[in-house]
Amino acid sequence: MRQYHFRPDAVAVLMRNCVFEVHDWGSTSGGGVAHFGRDGAPTRVVMHTAQHEACVHECAHAWWYELERERPARKDPAVAELIAVFRLQSLLEDGGYPVIRQHCRQFRTSMWNEELGRWSHDEIFASLASAVMCDMRRMPVGFHGVYGEMLVMPQ
Ligand SMILES: [Zn+2]
Repeated sequence: MRQYHFRPDAVAVLMRNCVFEVHDWGSTSGGGVAHFGRDGAPTRVVMHTAQHEACVHECAHAWWYELERERPARKDPAVAELIAVFRLQSLLEDGGYPVIRQHCRQFRTSMWNEELGRWSHDEIFASLASAVMCDMRRMPVGFHGVYGEMLVMPQ
């Protein structure tokens, strides 16, 4: 995780609250899932293969879930901040952040959960993180507040 700019305190949260599984170290075809551990159970972070992109994606999911456990008062403001910047970025031209803006435009229609009546904010958070492999230099500054709680700015 440190290779992909995770903050030491974010790594500590993940190591404290999660269990990690890699099913096939011999493949990098991808895929994974993170199951939030309810009622004090550890969050299960499953990587189907050793693909780094899947790893940072699932770790970002897990960190977003763990924000709820570790700092519940921060979760709602963080969600509001993420969605506000996400919606703004989805309306902008590519500018200097083509990967992020392209993802935001794409998710504007696919990340609204009709059933729950809300954005799939955990998926938005994890997908944008893995889209740029957790490199905040490739994210518009509006995202730095939310992602800066999980990531350090690379030198
Ligand atoms: Zn995901």
